Amino acid sequence: MNPKIKLFESFEALNSCVIKCRLCPRLVDYREHVLPKPKFQHEIYWRKPIPGFGDPKAWLLLTGLAPSPDGGNRTGRIFTGDATGRFLMKMLYQAGFANQPICESAKDGLILKDCYLTAAVKCVPPLHKPTPQECRNCAQYYHNEVYLLKNLKAVLALGRLAFDAYLQYAKMQGFSTRNMPFRHGAKYQWGDRVPALYASYHPSPQNTNTGKLSEEMLLTLLEQIRAQSSLPAN
Ligand code: SF4
Repeated sequence: MNPKIKLFESFEALNSCVIKCRLCPRLVDYREHVLPKPKFQHEIYWRKPIPGFGDPKAWLLLTGLAPSPDGGNRTGRIFTGDATGRFLMKMLYQAGFANQPICESAKDGLILKDCYLTAAVKCVPPLHKPTPQECRNCAQYYHNEVYLLKNLKAVLALGRLAFDAYLQYAKMQGFSTRNMPFRHGAKYQWGDRVPALYASYHPSPQNTNTGKLSEEMLLTLLEQIRAQSSLPAN
């Protein structure tokens, strides 16, 4: 943890700070002005940073890259209202982490159990590509989420950028992150002081529509993580 950065001691305090953040001018401009898809043009978009969502007692943290223009930036909840969220929630439901496979709006009744969802970068970036400086700016919030999840045993990074964000966290705790390449299904550990890191391809349509990431691959990984964390499904 960076000792110069003040940590929030509750999700309420952290998230109320996150949604007001304007640290990255390029992302602030994009989130506030990105044009809606025609089918959503009559909706009022959230257009603010997207805080994490889920069970504050979670032992598993799923980390994505950033919200999408018509998903999180529209609905105000991470992995909600887009194809990526639909794929992910179907798998979380089947693996026993969600009460329903539906994630269409912030008021759809979704409840997560034992897991928490967030993104390494909390604002939607143009072309899904935040700059290194934008990633560094937002790391303070991601590290604070990890700090607040006191029961955390495992982190599942969805894609390379999320994977790198968690390696950066481990490095700041004083652990070596050398020779830890990203590949789907990889697992890295540093003993008991830092939750284990697992890697998955990102569940975006680019990967799920081409078969790079299948439902079976993600479900198998979620079941492996549960088994290796020695925690039964409820
Ligand atoms: S990406 Fe993160 S640091 Fe940058 S403006 Fe959004 S919330 Fe703030």
